Amino acid sequence: MPDTIKGLHHVTALASSAARNNAFFTGTLGLRRVKKTVNFDAPDVYHLYYGDEAGTPGSVMTYFPFPHARRGRAGSGEVSTTAFAVPEGTLDAWEARLGEAGVPGLERVNTFGENRLLFQGPDGDGLALVEADDDRAPWTGNGIGADTALRGFHSVELRLRDTGPTADLLGLMGYQEECRQGNVTRFVLPAHNGAGTVDLAQVDAPQADQGAGSVHHIAFAVDDRAAQLQIRQALTEAGAQITPVIDRDYFWAIYFRSPGGVLFEIATNEPGFDRDEDLAHLGEALKLPQQHAHLRADLERRLEPLGD
Ligand code: ZN
Repeated sequence: MPDTIKGLHHVTALASSAARNNAFFTGTLGLRRVKKTVNFDAPDVYHLYYGDEAGTPGSVMTYFPFPHARRGRAGSGEVSTTAFAVPEGTLDAWEARLGEAGVPGLERVNTFGENRLLFQGPDGDGLALVEADDDRAPWTGNGIGADTALRGFHSVELRLRDTGPTADLLGLMGYQEECRQGNVTRFVLPAHNGAGTVDLAQVDAPQADQGAGSVHHIAFAVDDRAAQLQIRQALTEAGAQITPVIDRDYFWAIYFRSPGGVLFEIATNEPGFDRDEDLAHLGEALKLPQQHAHLRADLERRLEPLGD
């Protein structure tokens, strides 16, 4: 199945305050909110999507904010870091910007020869910016210039007690082991959408406890439904228990639990976030899937205002 998986599609995490989450990802990090909808399985909770101008797969960070959620506890069996690519030489500026915003956990490290700035999101989310030569067009509508703005995902790091079975799975998905540093092994797709790197860290730590700030699942991109069915069959033959194809309005999704405990999704690049609103106005109005359209008045009254 070489070249079926194109890289990350989106990363979905849990939050507490929707307004604080929105302010951080749009204001502090400068991403565009590309969709304001609800959790299709629990419509009284928002599903907020942040990315580049169009919400291009490989750039999209999404959140389910539960207003009174307690914080997650970091551990094994989870995504420990979600990293975004930024241009070479910009980490000093980013460190100053995040410092002025009171962002906790700022730390500069060098991993795999790349400069990385670690920091925490509003709920303790494990985030990083990595300097990279990345030609993806950034969103500049929130006041961060093209010479500095986020390009999309660089990579995710999964912290696992045993990385072996997940490494095998990534191999099946087309990833190739590129290098190792300490307890971390890097896997990269030979051809990808810019977000083609997954790092597996082997750790001896208790199981993570999911809560606000934890990643809920990571989605990998495929071009279309035909490619999705192809990979679904290959994964099923390899023993994975995979859901049927689910219509998420902006993509089609299948889900399965990876051997290390992290929930994986395979999502299509079609139809995209401009399916139900103009590109110029993405993310402004509350969009509801048809099955929840009758809840609009109630949801508009109950959902936390985002403050923008
Ligand atoms: Zn998803």
